[in-house]
Amino acid sequence: MRKQIVAGNWKMNCDLPDTQKLITDLKTGLVKEFNCELMIAPSTPFLYNAFNSTLDSDIEVIAQNVSEQEKGAFTGETSVDMLQSIGIKTVIIGHSERRDIYGETNELIAQKVKASVNKGMRVIFCCGEHLEIRKEDKHYDLVGNQVKIALQDLTEEQMSQIVIAYEPVWAIGTGETATPEQAQEMHAHLRNELSTLFNDSIAQNTSILYGGSVKPNNAAELFAKPDVDGGLVGGASLSAESFLNIANAI
Ligand code: PGA
Repeated sequence: MRKQIVAGNWKMNCDLPDTQKLITDLKTGLVKEFNCELMIAPSTPFLYNAFNSTLDSDIEVIAQNVSEQEKGAFTGETSVDMLQSIGIKTVIIGHSERRDIYGETNELIAQKVKASVNKGMRVIFCCGEHLEIRKEDKHYDLVGNQVKIALQDLTEEQMSQIVIAYEPVWAIGTGETATPEQAQEMHAHLRNELSTLFNDSIAQNTSILYGGSVKPNNAAELFAKPDVDGGLVGGASLSAESFLNIANAI
């Protein structure tokens, strides 16, 4: 059975009081067991505080980004070791905002994935196409290629540390969601890619999340698709109620 995961990507939205309040609200709302792993990704300065505040809950605190470098003169960067030294075990890599706004290439993202996985971190690797690419019907090739470049050098064993998040860029923060059928088609395609790159068992055991305007009112039909193993949630993760409603849809 693949792991079902609902992860909240808080992006650059919450200062310390916001972070603490959202965590308190989430813990208050955690009155039942969910059928999925719950993760939240606060901003880097608040990870340690958030990690400690969630130790008595089922919420895992994860990072939004990490450096591909190990140590040294890299102003403004945060290393895998640093994250691990405060208890963080999972990191999001390759989000489309990192790719588009900060110029992260497939090659840099592959280095970040490798640096993280080599040290035992779990990675939520993000991929997804822009609208023009979909209109040209090149989205399967482009997203397949993003996955190939990022993951092809990993060992089969290391693949157990990888979660994929398919996030069509045209659906992120726009209110426009991929239809459950569009999500399912791409997820099935990515499973085929994994089967070609590695083997069928890895293809079947890797969780593939959908991201892009996941909301409480569309989560159930997305998560009902056989190859959709949960969601990476931006805007709707900033309210404890809507985030937990989304998790409840698994
Ligand atoms: P969104 O963001 O849910 O606000 O569309 C998703 C993401 O960027 O991970």
